[in-house]
Amino acid sequence: MGLSDIRSRLEAACTAAGRDPAEITLIAISKVQPNDRVEAVLEAGHRVFGENTVQEAESKWPDFRARFPGTEVHLVGPLQSNKARRAMELFDTIHSVDRPKIARAIARLTDEIGRCPDLFIQVNTGEEAQKAGVLPSDTDAFVAECRDLNLPVRGLMCIPPAEETPSLHFALLRKIAERNGLTGLSMGMSADFEEAIAQGATHVRVGSAIFGDRVYS
Ligand SMILES: *Cc1c(COP(=O)(O)O)cnc(C)c1O
Repeated sequence: MGLSDIRSRLEAACTAAGRDPAEITLIAISKVQPNDRVEAVLEAGHRVFGENTVQEAESKWPDFRARFPGTEVHLVGPLQSNKARRAMELFDTIHSVDRPKIARAIARLTDEIGRCPDLFIQVNTGEEAQKAGVLPSDTDAFVAECRDLNLPVRGLMCIPPAEETPSLHFALLRKIAERNGLTGLSMGMSADFEEAIAQGATHVRVGSAIFGDRVYS
C-alpha cells in the first residue's frame, strides 16, 4: 500500500495492457483522510486529488493548493444544484454530471464565471436504483444535450455495482464512450484499477490503497 506501490502496480498494469502510463491520470481520492496523510502524498510529489463533497474540498484544498502549486482537485461525488457554483470554483474536473438540470446550471454558471471545469458524465452502468448516474440507454441523448450547451465533456465515469464483475461495466462504459466520440474514461478504484486499465481507463480513482483505510467518526 501507498503511493509508490500503487504507481508500480499502475505501470505493471499498463505494460500488461500494452499501454503508456502517461495516458493515465492517477487521482488520489483523499476524502475523509486526515490531513497528515494527504500532506505526505503531496510531499511525495503527487498533484492530482479527488474529493467526494464540496464541503470537504473547501475545508482542505485552498490551503494545500497555496502550499503545493500545480495541484489539481477533482470532484468524484454527487453534485447538487445549489452547490454547483462553489463546485465550479473549487474543482478542476467534475466527474459526476448526471442530469439535465445540473448540465443547464453548469452552462449558465460558465457564462457568469467565465470558465468551466473539465466534465465527465456519470453513467449508472448497473442501473442501480440507489446510485447516481444517467442510465446507459439515456447516455447518448444526454451527451448530445451537454454538447448543445457547449459543455466541455471529456468522457464518462462509472462506479460498478459492488457484487458484479467490474470488467463488464468498464467494457460497457468504454463502448458507450466510443460511440459518442469521447476519449476520457474515469473508472477503477482501489480494488479494481488494474482491470480498469486493461479496459481502457484514462482516469483511475484510488483512495484507500494509497492513503490507508478511511476512518469514519
Ligand atoms: C471513495 C471513492 C473512490 C475511492 O475508493 P477506494 O476504494 O478507497 O479506492 C473512487 N471513486 C469514488 C466515486 C469514490 O467515492
